[in-house]
Amino acid sequence: MTNFSQRTLELAKIAEEEIKEQFKYIEDVAFKNQYKVLKAFSDNRVSAECLGSSTGYGYNDRGREILDLVYAQVFEAEAAFARHNIVSGTHALTIGLFGLLRPGDELLSVAGKPYDTLDKVIGISKTTGDGSLSDFGVKYRQVDLTKEETIDLEAVKNAINSATKVVYVQKSRGYSSRRTITNAEIGELVKAAKSVKNDVFVFVDNCYGEFCEEHEPCYYGADLCVGSLIKNAGGGIAQSGGYLAGSKKAIELCSYRFTCPGTGLECGATLGQNENMYKGLFFAPHVVSQALKTAVFAAALFEKAGFKPLPHYSETRLDIIQAFDLGSKEAIERFCQGIQAGSPIDSFVTPEFWDMPGYDDQVIMAAGTFVSGASIELSADAPAREPYVVFMQGGLTYESGKIGVMTALERVLA
Ligand SMILES: *Cc1c(COP(=O)(O)O)cnc(C)c1O
Repeated sequence: MTNFSQRTLELAKIAEEEIKEQFKYIEDVAFKNQYKVLKAFSDNRVSAECLGSSTGYGYNDRGREILDLVYAQVFEAEAAFARHNIVSGTHALTIGLFGLLRPGDELLSVAGKPYDTLDKVIGISKTTGDGSLSDFGVKYRQVDLTKEETIDLEAVKNAINSATKVVYVQKSRGYSSRRTITNAEIGELVKAAKSVKNDVFVFVDNCYGEFCEEHEPCYYGADLCVGSLIKNAGGGIAQSGGYLAGSKKAIELCSYRFTCPGTGLECGATLGQNENMYKGLFFAPHVVSQALKTAVFAAALFEKAGFKPLPHYSETRLDIIQAFDLGSKEAIERFCQGIQAGSPIDSFVTPEFWDMPGYDDQVIMAAGTFVSGASIELSADAPAREPYVVFMQGGLTYESGKIGVMTALERVLA
């Protein structure tokens, strides 16, 4: 491990002085969310029995059934399910899309184009022949954000027609430089969309947004809210998985896509993963606060060193992503190599750009993580395209996140 230079140590000290107010806000949100999680455990009488396991069909797995109730309460929804065998965020979102949409229906994305990995799921520009929504006759349209990067509610209202079944909104920026959308803004979208078509489903890609605000999207009326358990909601402890929370009707439809029509949520062996999922949810509000502090510190530190952070450290955080415009592919490579070197696992590995399945551009990823690919742990990634922006997120503890970020700065300045 590197010894930090005097310059990095001094910049870190100055940076930390300036973000005290942000830290106080983050701690306040974490406290409220921790209360909400504990209350959901208590109200649903989570017991030692719930931490047990099942095999085979997994009938009558109390732990799984109660975890679903806990998830519903925490996500302020009527119903929910969280499963270790949802393989990724993309898979969870796919369950949601195929659960709700039927041939002839239209999917309307209202925060521009969805996250890159959904291109092939939706079949955005063409029928793909591999079972995308487009192959099944589901149409796709999109409404871009306004110049101020808010949802264009008037354009959304005009775009909704009799075929529109799902109004889809991605909360966080993903691999783009736009701002993140607040859950209150999602509430405004719900009102606007339902004023035109009452039975439309408002579907939120909540990846990276969980526990950053006091309330989740369903509190504001969203019909479905979806995320990954190796991001915020798993608290760094879940070993894999995803969750879907929403209205009773939406969750029922999604449950039939997740398993089969007729089976829904009545089956599903938990194979010893209940304990990790409960423990992860219990830790999630705190771990998210540590990741948020790491992000705010990184923004302040890199700004002091002359780089442009997106968002600025003084901005209220709505997700755990911190981006930097580093200007070149080489600077991004050095940044990612620094994050990797400051990680607990595989610190000796050198990340490089490669052709990652599901992405159109080459991608670089730094993730020296306990859970493979978990981006609630300190990690950084970037596509090889202009503008050369690197995205970092995570940090299980603020102290370790801080060390990783300082190591990245040393490499970028080297
Ligand atoms: C990470 C992410 C996804 C996809 O999740 P994977 O687990 O990588 O498949 C989708 N949407 C957003 C906004 C994300 O950040």
